[in-house]
Amino acid sequence: MRVSVPNLPKSLLLNPLTKQVPVSKAIDSVTAFLAPGNVTLVTGAGVSVDSGIRAYRGRDGLYMNPNYKPIFYHELLDETEKGQSFRQRYWLRSYLGYPSVREALPNTTHYAIAALQHAGVIPRLITQNVDGLHHAALSMAHPSPVMVEKSLLELHGTLHRVRCKHGHLVDRTVFQDWLSSANPKWKDFADTGTELRTNPDGDVAIEHLGASYNDFVIPECPTCLQENRHNNVHKPDLVFFGESISEYVKNRSYLDIENSDRLLLIGTTLATYSAFRLLKHALALGKPVLMINVGPSRADVVEGVHKLDIASGDIMRDVVRNVLGHRGAIDSTVEKMLSSGIRRPPLTDDDGSAPRNADED
Ligand SMILES: [Zn+2]
Repeated sequence: MRVSVPNLPKSLLLNPLTKQVPVSKAIDSVTAFLAPGNVTLVTGAGVSVDSGIRAYRGRDGLYMNPNYKPIFYHELLDETEKGQSFRQRYWLRSYLGYPSVREALPNTTHYAIAALQHAGVIPRLITQNVDGLHHAALSMAHPSPVMVEKSLLELHGTLHRVRCKHGHLVDRTVFQDWLSSANPKWKDFADTGTELRTNPDGDVAIEHLGASYNDFVIPECPTCLQENRHNNVHKPDLVFFGESISEYVKNRSYLDIENSDRLLLIGTTLATYSAFRLLKHALALGKPVLMINVGPSRADVVEGVHKLDIASGDIMRDVVRNVLGHRGAIDSTVEKMLSSGIRRPPLTDDDGSAPRNADED
């Protein structure tokens, strides 16, 4: 099976095509772009950096860990003993890493975007992130579940649900409890609060602890047991390397582009094809496209994309005030959103982040 990890072309990394823009100019550009409304937004890992979740790539566009070896879809679902070993390693690392993703808070960009969703400027949001932070920010407006379902599409799934190989879905918090009960020794270790490096997908490095994952117990799916079947093959409800996006999500993402008048991209390098093809679709339909991203991206050589090389956290609150101020659409919920959100200093150490959730195509 040929599975490739998406990468940006070398020539792009060596000769970045875009220069950083002044803050005030960037605010004006984004305000003018959003003002007509009916915008579809696509976000990536860069949006969650201010929440303390690592970006996959640094300023130079390279993976921060060049030796990163992701686990692939076929490995995770492999029925042999080898597969069992892959799953033990995966689930132990993920068990220890998940709490830091669960406890992460939306940042100022998440809330600024939520304000624009709440005010109807951005009726459709497609995110590549699996951290659930767009949901968390939007929940301040108390939208109905139906409205959230309509307005937010998780292109690569979510870390907050787990699915057994027969399709039984369980909340991740419940699954974590199952893992705790089955592995009291590891629960004790987790309870010591030892700091571990966490990747954006909630995976941590444990090898340096000298720990073995051979004794890690993966519990059986209780619903399968009720159906008289033993099964302990589970997978977080996200898209892995080597796995395809479902037809429903793919079609829905295209529809979101078609139903909008313009496309905004924030914090994504578009290295994964699932996101890049949305840009191509928008351009083919003649929709204006604006991109906000720090560092090089796959869109830099694409004609028709206006790119601003700037951190979204530096501009988005002001953009919302400008766009909604003109419309008289700043209500108490928007005010609250504009004064909410953390902004943590970026994590800059250099040995451990790379994408785990990405489809090939
Ligand atoms: Zn099951």
